[in-house]
Amino acid sequence: MKEVEFYKEEAGQVLKYFHTSKEGLTNEEAKKRIKDYGFNELETKSKINPFKIFISQFKSFIIYILLFAVVFSILIGEYVDSVVILIILLLNALIGFFQELNANRSLEALKKITTLDAVVMRGKELHKIDSKFLVPGDIVHLEAGDKVPADMRIIESTRLRVDESALTGESMPVTKNNFVIHTERQIGDRHNMLFSSTSIVSGNVRAVVVRTGMETEIGKITSMIKTAKIEQTPLQRKLDKFGKEMGYIVIVISIIVFLASFMKNVLHEGFSLPAMVGFMFIALSLAVAAVPTALPAVVTIALSIGVKRLLKKKSLVKNLSSVETLGSCDVICTDKTGTLTRNEMTVKIAWTWNKEAYIDGTGYLPQGKISKKLEPMLYKIGLLCNNASLYHENDKWKITGDPTEAALIVSARKAGLDISNKVKVLDEIPFDSERKMMSVLVKDKGKETVMTKGAPGKIVSVCTHILIDGKKKKFTEEMKKTVLAHNNVYAEKAMRVLAFAYKEHSGGKLSENNMTFIGLQAMIDPPRKEVSASIEKAKKAGIRVIMITGDNIQTAKAIAEKVGIGGNAISGEELGKMSDAMLEKALKEDTNIFARVIPEHKQRIIRLLQKMEHTVAMTGDGVNDAPALRKANIGIAVGSGTEVAKEASDFVLLDDGFSHIVNAVEEGRGIYDNIQKSIMLLLSGNIGEVLIIFLAVLLGMNLPLTAILLLWINLITDGAPALAYAVDPYGKDIMERKPKPHGERILPKAKMKLIFILGMIGTFVALSLFHLTGGESVNTLMRAQTFVFNFVVLYELMLVFIIRKDYKVRFFSNKWVWSAVLLSIALQALLMYTPLNIPFGVIPLSLNDIGILAFSGLVFYTLSMGYYHLIHRKHSENLQFFSD
Ligand code: ATP
Repeated sequence: MKEVEFYKEEAGQVLKYFHTSKEGLTNEEAKKRIKDYGFNELETKSKINPFKIFISQFKSFIIYILLFAVVFSILIGEYVDSVVILIILLLNALIGFFQELNANRSLEALKKITTLDAVVMRGKELHKIDSKFLVPGDIVHLEAGDKVPADMRIIESTRLRVDESALTGESMPVTKNNFVIHTERQIGDRHNMLFSSTSIVSGNVRAVVVRTGMETEIGKITSMIKTAKIEQTPLQRKLDKFGKEMGYIVIVISIIVFLASFMKNVLHEGFSLPAMVGFMFIALSLAVAAVPTALPAVVTIALSIGVKRLLKKKSLVKNLSSVETLGSCDVICTDKTGTLTRNEMTVKIAWTWNKEAYIDGTGYLPQGKISKKLEPMLYKIGLLCNNASLYHENDKWKITGDPTEAALIVSARKAGLDISNKVKVLDEIPFDSERKMMSVLVKDKGKETVMTKGAPGKIVSVCTHILIDGKKKKFTEEMKKTVLAHNNVYAEKAMRVLAFAYKEHSGGKLSENNMTFIGLQAMIDPPRKEVSASIEKAKKAGIRVIMITGDNIQTAKAIAEKVGIGGNAISGEELGKMSDAMLEKALKEDTNIFARVIPEHKQRIIRLLQKMEHTVAMTGDGVNDAPALRKANIGIAVGSGTEVAKEASDFVLLDDGFSHIVNAVEEGRGIYDNIQKSIMLLLSGNIGEVLIIFLAVLLGMNLPLTAILLLWINLITDGAPALAYAVDPYGKDIMERKPKPHGERILPKAKMKLIFILGMIGTFVALSLFHLTGGESVNTLMRAQTFVFNFVVLYELMLVFIIRKDYKVRFFSNKWVWSAVLLSIALQALLMYTPLNIPFGVIPLSLNDIGILAFSGLVFYTLSMGYYHLIHRKHSENLQFFSD
């Protein structure tokens, strides 16, 4: 296709070029074009490099030395141990490789699940579609907060400003219009074009799509747009640091183990190179076994499984680390419309001076009786000062745009207004949640009129006259009070009230003053059914729910009461006058309802809550909410909100309901629990292994385990069970405990103590067993080592269940945990009862021996449970389970 410079063409020419018109394409034509042009998508390239991941499994200082020792020992003729060690290291690396590859792949897949909707003219009506299906020639409607989904030529626009920083780096919004450009211009100066991935700051626009997908400017710049960038979460970083610290301690212990056993050997038997290499192996294997290398992959997998579960529950996680933060969330600041309520507005009452009319009907079906005839201008303003649209699809009435405005189209249709009336909108001052009103300048039969709608308080303040029975009268202060009193009566019934005014336009700029007041329309927006139960659940979980709404204080209070948010209410006006100290006091004194706020207030409330050490989740939808969403510990955008809000947030609720936030918190807590369990399991097992070797050396005993036995234990007990925890169901009490305290360590003290004690008990039993089965004599050493070897495997598998107990997870609830444990047992049996036992230096256990082993297990279990019930449980219950 010939390169056409669309910015140099009149809009009409561009429409012709694409064989389209302002009425858009038909659905059939659009389908055809998809075949020619492909989907409107940017291709992303995978950043995963399996080879690199495999190599990274060996990137550890300790492994380097171990490999060096292996080579060295092959050189001096010690083959068996070296080969076995090499095989185990390779197996370990393979397991690590698959875990990590899986983790990265699922993360990458998750990152791609973002859809962008576009409002487009298809078959002469506005429809909302997935922007993937946009084709050249489509006519798209965009408003403030929308992302531009393709490259387009502007057909018509009002007060349009666009943020093009994503494309040009220019941080100031640029003004755009539809005027043709005659000279050569750079992208940033093509003011009649819109480019994919920029966003609308204010105003609105109709434009024709000229390029899609990889043909767009952003697609051309690079063929690899924002690929799934996998960043470490704070928890992963903390774990990395923790792993390194553990590594240092283990290296010191390993050096002591090496020196002590080597010296002992030199003193008794003189220097021998193979013996030295043997001691080096044991020290290094200890280091390998003791560092929980599986942890990072386990954490990533647990997080990504959680993210998938959340997606099923209609929450899209954009920022992985927020899953962790959710677990400590103790305040949810939620807006009202759409989150607590259904955001399905229906006008029920219309009011003009001294006349009240009831309107029948529910939802968006534009049929229903109006009990009294009122001034038609009331409905006309509602209809024209409006950017929403109503359409019929699959036997349902659907809307695009703001539900409040859609409700006004419905009431106008019920009032019998002629919607085919071709009125031209010349200018518009769009709605924004700060001004709380919206105006249009319309030309109807040659007459220009300004029409305004908005929050009654605001509208009344810009009116000087009132229309009563078709006559314009002076709007006195007394009359204004009467209007606002009516507003309050409706608001107290939980209705959202809008006021309407107009004036004849006398030329010049569109202004909102000296207007004539007409009346009110009050609409219901019922609470979502599941909201009360979710608020109750949140409260039980120690989470405070605060409502922050742009709506009237009476409406806010009425809805709050219906859904069970208690506490005091403050209006934005009062809040504006309060100092930080006063607001902090109000927050401490149970103020849970903030009404008529402006987005700036949201930021102040978050700042103070954070100062009080709360972890705050906050919802938002508008362009102006973006700073607050970024500031919150967890920014949550509602699905129906603007693209700008979605971009600024950590979560997007695909279905706006509040209950999804509470579910997400539950999920966050569960994931955190599962990660914590894995850490506990890996650490307690490893602590045992280190202590057994270290104490044996300090006590001058023979070594109860050899290098390859240590590596084997590590291989079969570390990876699979810890990984199976990632899909463990959550404990029964998960939403009955308090949120974990701000800034808590990965493992609170009580848990750290528990695993240390379990490790000590394990060590005590293992060393006793070693001693009693003849660990001190050369003749019976192998038998004693075999006992310790099997006991350590048994004890580590028992830990799997003891740790789950601490989280109140049902015993038989996770088939993966059981499979992992059974797999470990099977592998252990394979090693013990096949010729594999020869290179490993162990001997098969007789039935009698198994009895001894079982008894040792019983001793370990009894001692552990004794400590668990008598000390740990009591202690941690006193400390509210999670606290430090
Ligand atoms: P929440 O913040 O809980 O979602 P909200 O949706 O009521 O509450 P805003 O959208 O900021 O908050 O609306 C604030 C007020 O502005 C409303 O109470 C209403 O009076 C008025 N308003 C809302 N939408 C429009 C609109 N499209 N045109 C004119 N005025 C509007």
